[in-house]
Amino acid sequence: MLRDWLVTTSQPEETQRLGACLGNFLQAGDVVLLYGPLGAGKTHFAQGVARGLRVESPVTSPTFTLVAEYEGRVPLIHMDLYRLYDDAEASEPILTPESLVQIGFDDYLDGDGVVLIEWGRGVEADLDNYLSVSIDYAKFDEPSDDGVTTRQIAVEAIGEMAQRRLWEWVVAWA
Ligand code: ADP
Ligand code: MG
Repeated sequence: MLRDWLVTTSQPEETQRLGACLGNFLQAGDVVLLYGPLGAGKTHFAQGVARGLRVESPVTSPTFTLVAEYEGRVPLIHMDLYRLYDDAEASEPILTPESLVQIGFDDYLDGDGVVLIEWGRGVEADLDNYLSVSIDYAKFDEPSDDGVTTRQIAVEAIGEMAQRRLWEWVVAWA
């Protein structure tokens, strides 16, 4: 089984395509955690996943509402938990169990949708199966370098189901 995958995108649209490629075959109960600094491309990736799930309404980052639900081939539940951190810029920001209870996190996991989470560091402990997608500026590039559009995307699959999805994704992307 495939556990890790490294892929590079060179334009925002390519990151969306990569997400759409995965979204094409995600199923209810699948969880995708999106990591990476502000402006890395997490929401672009999420928009792609939404397209792959045949979501028709526009997807934006639910920073203020924390959770947004969309109708698609299967429902998409998109979370951006940035505001739950005491200090998201800390070197190892982590969500507390209390803050997850506050948004009813477990109910979303037991639901019938695909769950996509931006800024979810700390939720992993509750999950047996998930894809972790870490998006970062390419080495040596600084976020402030205007016009630099290369992103390195490191994917990790935890659990058998996630590993199956990763395999399908890699094959479909090739
Ligand atoms: P995040 O959700 O991680 O904060 P967004 O997806 O909202 O990030 O924004 C990413 C920004 O980076 C956008 O302005 C987008 O145009 C830009 N960008 C440049 N290159 C890429 C790329 N290869 N993939 C994704 N976004 C990119
Ligand atoms: Mg975002």
